[in-house]
Amino acid sequence: MVKISEFELIEKINRAFPNHDKNVIGIGDDAAVISIPDKKKELITTDTMINGVHFLSEKADFEKLGFKSMAVNISDIAAMGGYPLYALLTLGISDKINDSQIDGLLRGINNIRNEFPFELIGGDIVKSDVFFISITMIGEPFKNPIMRSGAKENDFIYVSGTIGDSGIGLAIEKEIIKYDILTPAFFLERHYKPSPRVDLIEYLTKNHSIHSCIDISDGLLQDLGHISEMSGIGFELEIEKIPISRDKIGSLVLSDERYFLEFGLSGGEDYELIFTSPEAVALPKAMPLVTQIGRMTGNSAVLRYKGKEISPKELKKGFTHF
Ligand code: ADP
Ligand code: MG
Repeated sequence: MVKISEFELIEKINRAFPNHDKNVIGIGDDAAVISIPDKKKELITTDTMINGVHFLSEKADFEKLGFKSMAVNISDIAAMGGYPLYALLTLGISDKINDSQIDGLLRGINNIRNEFPFELIGGDIVKSDVFFISITMIGEPFKNPIMRSGAKENDFIYVSGTIGDSGIGLAIEKEIIKYDILTPAFFLERHYKPSPRVDLIEYLTKNHSIHSCIDISDGLLQDLGHISEMSGIGFELEIEKIPISRDKIGSLVLSDERYFLEFGLSGGEDYELIFTSPEAVALPKAMPLVTQIGRMTGNSAVLRYKGKEISPKELKKGFTHF
């Protein structure tokens, strides 16, 4: 059994394979960057979804699975300031999977191409005890790639869309949500059909100075932590500013806001963007909502809820304990 954490393992691989090619930015960001002299830069990312870990094949809608498997990769390309161009699809086929499920999967992949017209250019099929979908996505930046490491002191921290929806959707699905939600279908849809923010990042890169960006896969706090760590500065986060879907949760949120803000802080798989900019970002109406939730500053994480400071150690016990 491997005892080290996911991040320790990535670090170990990173140390074992230092890049010597100056045209490459390798491990550490949402996607790698390859710069071929005199050509446009290329962005490359890969993500895998496994039965039993990311979904349950007996329950899953394979059309949605196909959509989501591509969406999470497109989201990583968007987080680098780019758009998708080419995909490679690898399937690990187990005995449990049938033809109609595969047809559903392919329909889902085709559906997302209506919105993001990438080409599927190859892949691999293997037999596997556990069904899995592994995708490699290649894209190009609209301007320069946006790195996690580019945040500067005093940058405003912004998030796109609403945060925590996917985690609430998963809790509804698992029947572990504490309250009756006003519109559960909304949260389930947000969990199964993430919206990669390609249009938003195009607008932002063309109209604003964006210093750093990451997409939320692990949870807002953890992913903001990656920007902070890679940029070598701290941040101040105003927890009550996190845009949770108050109107979709219903009036309950007023009585137990912290229960839902916890999903905003730690719920994963929103595939919204966290980005930092020295500018006050203003967006046209057609763009998704963008909310300022704090500033990059100092050298540690400072979290506040309605002005009251909360230490990260205290937060580990769960935000609802406050
Ligand atoms: P994301 O959540 O954006 O997909 P990850 O947390 O999966 O990012 O990965 C963080 C970084 O570590 C990425 O740059 C990724 O390419 C790299 N990485 C992850 N797993 C491996 C691996 N097995 N070998 C090399 N690099 C890896
Ligand atoms: Mg990412």
